[in-house]
Amino acid sequence: MKFITIENSVLSENTYLVWNENTLRGFLIDPGSDGKKIEKAAAERNIKIEAVFLTHGHFDHALSAKYFQERGAKVYVHAEDADKLTSGTAIDRFFGVKFPTFFADVTFETDNNILKFNEINSKTNRNKTSEIRAADSKTDGDKTSEIRAADSKTGGNKTSEIQGADSKTDGDNILNSGGNVPRIEKDNTVEFQGMRFKIIHTPGHSKGGVCYFFEDEGALFSGDTLFSGDIGRSDFVDGDFFELKNSIISKLFALPDGTAVYPGHEEATEIGKERNNKRLFGE
Ligand SMILES: [Zn+2]
Ligand SMILES: [Zn+2]
Repeated sequence: MKFITIENSVLSENTYLVWNENTLRGFLIDPGSDGKKIEKAAAERNIKIEAVFLTHGHFDHALSAKYFQERGAKVYVHAEDADKLTSGTAIDRFFGVKFPTFFADVTFETDNNILKFNEINSKTNRNKTSEIRAADSKTDGDKTSEIRAADSKTGGNKTSEIQGADSKTDGDNILNSGGNVPRIEKDNTVEFQGMRFKIIHTPGHSKGGVCYFFEDEGALFSGDTLFSGDIGRSDFVDGDFFELKNSIISKLFALPDGTAVYPGHEEATEIGKERNNKRLFGE
């Protein structure tokens, strides 16, 4: 896994272009206002952008998501922030910026340590759900589960299968018809194009706010939950200071000290440094 940071212009929001250096296939975390600049950065490196993972639905983190969706990338967002993208609650008007509304392709939930993907199909208004229960962590790694969509060229005859001793499904789990289906593993972890990361739900700045943790690389993409020397705002309509504080302390500060933190704005930091920051919560 490799990544670069691209700073956008509207609120100096950070976009992270993440890719597999062997296959040059990758995805964006939070495509901000400068879609063309992001696209150029990928093109210069011959990287194909196959997905967009949003840390939350605020406009500054999703301003060019629709642009990349129109070019074939699937957009993923936590279910509790999906409506921000479609209904004008992306706080864009608050900042006087026009946000191009759109539907995400897939929403996800992480409740009870069960990662669930829901494919949004605006044509049939039918959501297909995939659900895998986390395997018993005491067992070995062979009990991971995978979802595969069958040959997309057949169109009308799609099948999918789920393997794994501890997995449970509703039996209808086609995520998308392309060959780029993220694989759900145990512990809210996703494997996508040879890269593995955990989705950590961190409500407080936004109900559907998440962080993406790449354990092998010791890297956390924290959106607007945790910054260098500061925490996110909690004064928006679905924000909550105590929920935010709890998310940070119970979930992010549980990560190793040396974990690098790449936030949605401004410079990177480290978990250990922020955990030792006595004034982080301004109390
Ligand atoms: Zn935000
Ligand atoms: Zn932001």
